[in-house]
Amino acid sequence: MSVHEQFAEDLALYALGSLEGAERDALEAHLKECALCRRELEVLRGDLSVLALTTAGPKPPARSRQRLMSAIANEPRVPAAGPATASRRRSWWPVLGWVTAAALALVCIGLMRQNSSLQQDMASLRAQFTDQGSKLEQANEVMATLLDPDSQKIELVAAGNKPEPRGKAIYQRRNRNLIFLASNLAPLPAEKIYELWLFPANGGAPIAAGVFKPDARGSATVVNPPLPEGIEAKNFAVTLEPESGSHEHPRGTPVIVGVGE
Ligand SMILES: [Zn+2]
Repeated sequence: MSVHEQFAEDLALYALGSLEGAERDALEAHLKECALCRRELEVLRGDLSVLALTTAGPKPPARSRQRLMSAIANEPRVPAAGPATASRRRSWWPVLGWVTAAALALVCIGLMRQNSSLQQDMASLRAQFTDQGSKLEQANEVMATLLDPDSQKIELVAAGNKPEPRGKAIYQRRNRNLIFLASNLAPLPAEKIYELWLFPANGGAPIAAGVFKPDARGSATVVNPPLPEGIEAKNFAVTLEPESGSHEHPRGTPVIVGVGE
């Protein structure tokens, strides 16, 4: 066994920054005069830095990993016979330390890789949120324009015709969302109110979908009145009801009725 081999184990520890005290001093002294060991140290350090640098990639180069793993596997070295190496006989603790350090290095690499994949997940979530946010903003803007009392709502009809009362119901069964827009409604008689009704497709009794009063120009909106779940609509209608509204079924005269299919 050459003198260099005696230092091989120390070199690995030294590369990991785990060699201390007299052994560290001895190795540093030897490194000053031994090009072979300096080169070995460079290789070991290179392996470590390659491993650290490539954690974001799919996997570190097999060669670097293998060299490190075999450095671990080769421990403990058989101490050379003779008085010169007697002092180098050591307990298992430094070996365990080296194995632990290497294991920690591998754990760190695993964590760094996990971290980088988490960061990718976060970036994609952030992008999704931004996308959802801008969609929500758009939707809010549309709703604000529709519902703003200051928005001018002008109904266009065939030229020469007198504007008739009209309504449009936009209903989404899945989320129980209902937007109802009406225009050209006649002013309400005393103690009366308009009421919107949903006629279920299954032929069940009409469902009250909100009472409303039109503005001075005869426009009105009903947005998301409380509705039962999962009701498919066949039609909508507006009736004129007593001011308290009707809850069970329409009592008053129909004012506008959906043209439905
Ligand atoms: Zn040497």
